This record gives sequence, structure tokens and C-alpha cells, in this order.
Amino acid sequence: MDLKALAERLLPGEYPSLASFEEKYPPRNLPKGAQVTRLAPSPTGFIHLGNLFAAIANERIAHQSGGILYLRIEDTDLKRKVDGAVEAVKNALRYFDIRFDEGAEIGGDDTYAPWYQRQRAEIYRAFVKHLIEIGRAYPCFCTEEELTALREEQTAKKEITGYYGKYARCRNLTEEEIYRNLDAGKPFVIRLKSMGDPENKIKFRDAIKGEITVTENDQDVVILKSDGIPTYHFAHAIDDHFMRTTLVIRGEEWLASLPIHIELFDVLGFERPRYGHNCSLMKQDGETRRKLSKRKDPELSLEFYRKEGYYARAVKVYMLTLLNSNFEEWYLKNPEKPLEEFKFTAEKMSKSGTLFDIDKLNDISKNELSKLSAEEMYAFLKDWAEEFGTDVQKNYFSDEEKMLKVLTLCMGIGGKKRRKDFTTASQAMEFIGYFFERPASHEEYRVDGAARRNILHDFLEIYDSADDAQVWFSKVKEIAAANGFAAEMKEYKASPEAFKGSVADVAEVLRIATTGKANTPDLYSIQQILGEEETRERIEGAM
Ligand code: GLU
Repeated sequence: MDLKALAERLLPGEYPSLASFEEKYPPRNLPKGAQVTRLAPSPTGFIHLGNLFAAIANERIAHQSGGILYLRIEDTDLKRKVDGAVEAVKNALRYFDIRFDEGAEIGGDDTYAPWYQRQRAEIYRAFVKHLIEIGRAYPCFCTEEELTALREEQTAKKEITGYYGKYARCRNLTEEEIYRNLDAGKPFVIRLKSMGDPENKIKFRDAIKGEITVTENDQDVVILKSDGIPTYHFAHAIDDHFMRTTLVIRGEEWLASLPIHIELFDVLGFERPRYGHNCSLMKQDGETRRKLSKRKDPELSLEFYRKEGYYARAVKVYMLTLLNSNFEEWYLKNPEKPLEEFKFTAEKMSKSGTLFDIDKLNDISKNELSKLSAEEMYAFLKDWAEEFGTDVQKNYFSDEEKMLKVLTLCMGIGGKKRRKDFTTASQAMEFIGYFFERPASHEEYRVDGAARRNILHDFLEIYDSADDAQVWFSKVKEIAAANGFAAEMKEYKASPEAFKGSVADVAEVLRIATTGKANTPDLYSIQQILGEEETRERIEGAM
């Protein structure tokens, strides 16, 4: 068969020579050992923890070796494309401080552009054409229906499904048959003519999993679809070669396709990058562990963390804890150091499913937030509120001095122990809401209605915001004694039956009346921040 003529018929026109691509996209001029890594999401609009997991690993390995991290958009599947998806990826990753050096909408060096696969069609086609010319790719005219029938036949016979060996019907079409199909205008895809034999095993060194054995590929996979756009398999091989990627960290769902990729790199004559297959994030669901699911687990989406207002460093600390087995120990010793100082390695990455536990993340978040100054917390909450807060919440920031006082008190700054009440920005904003809005409801009081009224009434009689904390507290004790409550805890403990309750119960009445909540930081300080008038009005309201 005249393969050159066939290639011309299938992909007509002049393409640049293969060598010209090598010149156009030369090896990168980087110091020895520098790694070139990438993130290659499809623009589906859904960016998830798995992406962040891979992003952190790729980012660390690239930058810590003096290399490059780039962003490539794998938009070969138009059905999955969503408007604004690239912005969404960038925003989500920027939040976690993942810095790209080059790539789609990044700016930076453009030597290896374009970064959208759809804009790279000419390169892919040039190589497909070459593979047809050398007899390693061929047109396939099978219809969807025929392929479905084939799959059903294979399933019924309990055989491996796919287009291979004796099932690869179009592989053996005669020249005449091919041209007859073409003349009839039948749509076609281009398939790889695989030379592999699954009886043969290949030893492979995975950057994460270590030495693994895979079988040779024998699937004649589609490399160019009928619309002239390549599949992921083919496009990524071309791109990782010409973008001069040295290490690919990607999800382990790609491990099954690795034999295809090995064969593609070989037939294209490219040196393979190293691959590291990253384990999936699992969730404990009752007795079983399962993969985090888009449908069931909102915490899979990175949007969730921004909307809830997770502190980016906390999420990163948790991700690093999961990613590198020696991170936790390092971090215990170096809690204040920039995370970049930790030496990240692919070898220390987990080799099998990693359990993602949001409670652990929440603990880490509380801890990280408790390290912030009031000013840092102010900035963090304000950023969040500007994007996600209600109008009323945005307004909390109109009086900066008051907000700083609130935060200083609520975070326990200057106190004996820092408080760890805040998990996320949204939760913190809700927590401090009572400083800015009157309580819409009151938590349940321990003290009954009649006694409560008297306590609140007496408080209004003697409250003076000019009192210091000690005077204030001695007045609360007075109110307790006057209402049949023990003014001293000691007294109460000695003979509880002699009292309606203790001064603690009285304080609780005042606390709930002022804030709506039974649990707050120091009540005296809260009333100081609120001021005399507001405090009185709230107490009156509660009465
Ligand atoms: N586009 C692929 C995905 O979204 C990228 C896999 C890779 O990193 O090579 O999963």
C-alpha cells in the first residue's frame, strides 16, 4: 500500500517537518536536576481536591528544584468544556498560593505555547500523518453501533474489551476497501497500530509507587478523533514532549493507560518523562472507605474551601500531611517556618489510598488561625466577607477599631491562653455576629423565667459601663445574693440545696441576654465593646 499517498488523503496538505517542531520547542535551558512539571486540567469547571493534591506536589517539586510549573488546558473533549473554567482553575489555585511560571492565561515565557490543546492541532496532525506514513497508524471506519456490538460480544465471551488483535477489524482493510470508504465519505478516526503483546511484561519505575510491572499494550487506541482532534493519550504525549516536561504527577486512574502511553512515546521516538501516579483521596463512610465523590461530598470541590472560608495555609498543611509521610514531624518541629522550606519528595508520597478526614482539617484550621494576630485575622475575614459575606457582614468592617477589639477578645490575644474557636471565616463571622447584630434568638437559660427577670432588672439598676472588671463582678455577686443565688462557688458547693443556684447561673443569664449565647469570651469585655447603651437595650430586649 502507498502509505504516503494514504496519509496525504487522510490528512491533506503540507505540515511542518517533525524536526522543525524539535527546533521550535527546544529542550529547556535549566540547571541540572531542575524539574518541569505541569497541571493539565480539562476545562470542566469542576476543580477538586485531587487537582490540588497533584498541584501541590507538582508545584513543590518544580520550584524546589529550580524548575518550572506550567498550566496546560486539556480541552480536546468539547462536550466537557464549560465557560469560565480556566478562570475558575486559576482562582482556585491562586487561593492556595500555587504559582505557575507559564501557561494558559498566565503570561510568562511563551516559547512552549500554545497552552490550549485545541490550538495545537497542527502539531498533533503532523505526527499522526507521520505515523500513518510509517505504517503505525491507520483509519478506522467502525461506527458507534459496531463498536458497541463489539464490546457486547467481548463482554459476553468474558474477553478483554477494546479494539485489538483479531477484533481490530479496520487494521486489515485493503487499500481498495479504505479508498472505497473514503470515497463514500464515511467518517473515520485514526488508530494506533499497536505492536505490543500483553504476554510481555514491562518493568516500570513510578516516581511514587516505585517499581511496578505492567503488561505491554495491544489496544489500537484512537489517537485522532473524527473531528481531527486527538485523544488525551496522544495529545499528552506530544505536549509533554514538546513542553519538555520531566515529571508527570497525575491521578492513579491513569495507571491503567500507562502501557498505551509507553507505546506512544516509543513509536513517536520521544524520551518519556518520569511518571508518578498519585493515590486517590478516600473517605471513611461508616464501616467502609470509598473514593470522595463529586455527588456526595461537597468537600471534594475546591470551591467549598473558598466559600466556607478555609484558611489556605491550613488546607495546605493538611494536604502536605497527607502527601508526604515525613511532613507532620517536620511541621511539629518547624511550626512557624514557611511551608516551602519543607523538602518535598515524590518518593515519600503515599502509595495507596489516602484517607481524607475533614475533622482533622478543622483541627488544623483552628490551630493555624489561632496563630494569627488580630490584624491578620481582620484581613483574612474581610477578604472572605467581600466575596462571600452578606451585606450586613460586610458592614462589620466599617468600624475597624471595634472589629480589632472583637477579634483580640475572641481569639484570646493577650490572655493566658489563645482561644481556638475559629475554624473558617464563615464560622468566625457567625461566631462574632452578636457584636454587630442583636441576637435574633436566645439559647436556653438554666434559670427560670421569674428569677431571670429579677436578675436582669437588678442588673439594669446597678450597671455602669465605667466600672472596672472587678467592680462589675462584685455587682454581679450582689445581684446573685439578693436573688437567692450563692455569690461564691465555695458556698454553693458546700450546700447547694440552700440556693437557687450560683453566681455562675446569674452570669449565664446576663450572658445569654447580652449575646444570645451561653458560651462566649469574657462577658465584661463584651459589654465594654458593645457600650452602655447597646448593653442596656439588649438586656431590656431580653426582659
Ligand atoms: N486532563 C487530564 C485530567 O483532567 C490530566 C491528566 C494528566 O495530568 O496527565 O485528568
